[in-house]
Amino acid sequence: MDISIMLKLLHTLEQLRQHEHWTRVQLDTYQAESLRRLREYAYARSPFYQKFHQGLFDRPLSELPVLTKAMMMEHFDDLVTDAALRLEAIRAYASQGEAGQRYQNRYWVNATSGSSGQPGFFLFDQAEWVYILASFARSQEWSGVRINLTHRQRMATVASISPWHMSSQVAATVKSGWRPSLSLPASQPLSQTVEQLNAWEPEVLIAYASMTGILAEEQLAQRLHINPRVVYAASEVLTQQTRQRAREAWGDEPFNQYIATETASIAAEYRVCRRMHFFEDLVIAENVDEHYRPVPPGEYGAKVLITTLFSRTQPLIRYELNDSVRVSTEAHACGLPFAVLDGVQGRVEDALHLPALAGGRVAVQPLVFNRVMDIVPVSRWQVTQQADDGLVLLLTGVHDGLMDEALIDQLTRSLAQEGVRVPYLQVQRVSTIPKTASGKSPLIKAYRPAALA
Ligand SMILES: [Zn+2]
Repeated sequence: MDISIMLKLLHTLEQLRQHEHWTRVQLDTYQAESLRRLREYAYARSPFYQKFHQGLFDRPLSELPVLTKAMMMEHFDDLVTDAALRLEAIRAYASQGEAGQRYQNRYWVNATSGSSGQPGFFLFDQAEWVYILASFARSQEWSGVRINLTHRQRMATVASISPWHMSSQVAATVKSGWRPSLSLPASQPLSQTVEQLNAWEPEVLIAYASMTGILAEEQLAQRLHINPRVVYAASEVLTQQTRQRAREAWGDEPFNQYIATETASIAAEYRVCRRMHFFEDLVIAENVDEHYRPVPPGEYGAKVLITTLFSRTQPLIRYELNDSVRVSTEAHACGLPFAVLDGVQGRVEDALHLPALAGGRVAVQPLVFNRVMDIVPVSRWQVTQQADDGLVLLLTGVHDGLMDEALIDQLTRSLAQEGVRVPYLQVQRVSTIPKTASGKSPLIKAYRPAALA
């Protein structure tokens, strides 16, 4: 890694550590000042924001319009603050698959996989990229892994290895300077992943939450023999069952992180209290309902609006993420000034829209299934909605004594409590749960007509 980036990273990380000793008032003041500077920058250099926020320049954040991914991509050339950037050229650059080099020798290009429609592109210059790295580094420090130059831990990542995915780019940037790292695609055969991890013996393991569960099962079955000091689960809902199996496999639960390609870490688990705290000095996250009204602590919202305080190339102000999260009401004494993220229910697109007992349809959150399935003696599961609204439940590694009928009965009752009646619920015992192209094994799969899949 470029030594100047490394030094800037260590400097930024030291500043972030100072913020952890702040009072709430100091944090609020810093946040307000950072937001003011972001807006000033955007209004001076982004033709899109000049129009989008016209007449609202001095209004509070909560009164500004919401930016969706579709709007951002449609107005990309006007939204960015470098007039030389053109979406068409960036697309062409990305399609050549030469990640690792900076676009125009200046920008790191990240892309979202496009699971909810068209892919999104996110550009970061060096100053912004240092914040992205610092954000990941802070997540790790919060789990007890100190970042410094003299102790370099062996890291393994089992995730998407699309070169445009943020996890790959961060790994590539830190590889030489920070720590030796092995990146494995989540989509490759499991036996190969197990073999490579056994040979590498990672001290730090990072994986999708579903993959963390699969690897914990492999360890418990004594095919995987690794002894990581710390395990991180990211990008998917971390269930109680996965936490428990990882504890059995490696002696501790995985550390949870709430990450988005748009902005890096939004919240991470803190070793002192084992709760997730928001990175409020880097990102403002507003929890809102489906009509963008604020949702109070203690209740799940429908979307999260993020404002990335360090964004300059592509300012993100009230950018919509389809995540359903809950902020904690609890005051606790770990000492951090940052609010506690109580739970992530998953992307709203993971919700199933099922026939209601009273007619019409009801959105059923993944949590409804998690509550039942977390205590069922199986390795993995997946619920798939069929075209006729029937549900097929795939199970792997079923332990003795599980009665399909009892499970169907329990799920049917849970759904009835949500006001739902499905035409049928079928259990299938299988050897593996199919993965998506990016290597995830979602717990819940909504029905999508082939044309939209
Ligand atoms: Zn805490």
